[in-house]
Amino acid sequence: MGKFNLPDLPYDYNSLEPYIDATTMEIHHSKHHAGYVNNLNNAVAGTELEGKSLEELLANAGSLSVAVRNNGGGHFNHSLFWSIMGKGKGGNPTGKLGEDITSTFGSFESFKDEFSKAGATRFGSGWAWLLVKDGKLFVSSTPNQDNPLMDVADVKGTPILGLDVWEHAYYLKYQNRRPEYIENFFNVIDWVAVAERYENAL
Ligand code: MN
Repeated sequence: MGKFNLPDLPYDYNSLEPYIDATTMEIHHSKHHAGYVNNLNNAVAGTELEGKSLEELLANAGSLSVAVRNNGGGHFNHSLFWSIMGKGKGGNPTGKLGEDITSTFGSFESFKDEFSKAGATRFGSGWAWLLVKDGKLFVSSTPNQDNPLMDVADVKGTPILGLDVWEHAYYLKYQNRRPEYIENFFNVIDWVAVAERYENAL
């Protein structure tokens, strides 16, 4: 039994239909994410990294093995991803997060455009992020399973919203239509969960 564990999804595999299909969710969670957890446990077993928290590992990603960087990032990123989606969600963020998105990006629509572009233009596999850095909101993207918590990230900070743009996240339903997948992702974002992460990051 390894130290890192696959978290249960906080909803059913079919909860995000029709925007993200049940088969994609099941494979993504039970095969891909489970694989990152297993590989991470194997990569740290018996090394001086055993016992370190995921956050500690990510903060030193640049000096770690490719296996720890990729699988540690994969475990963190997917755990965050599941937690910021939900059944019957979508809409616009309210409260302080809604206000700060408007003041930072000009409007919610401008934020949506910038975030969508970050995901659509990420070449190959990676993630789009909304993150907090020095108390301010930024949009960025990272390759592979990197994320803003890593010392190697172009824009470092605390991610509060992440979108997986690996083909395994959308190919069964959307094939090559990544922009359509990104557009539909906005129908399942749990903005209350994102706002909670925002408050914690500030
Ligand atoms: Mn994925």
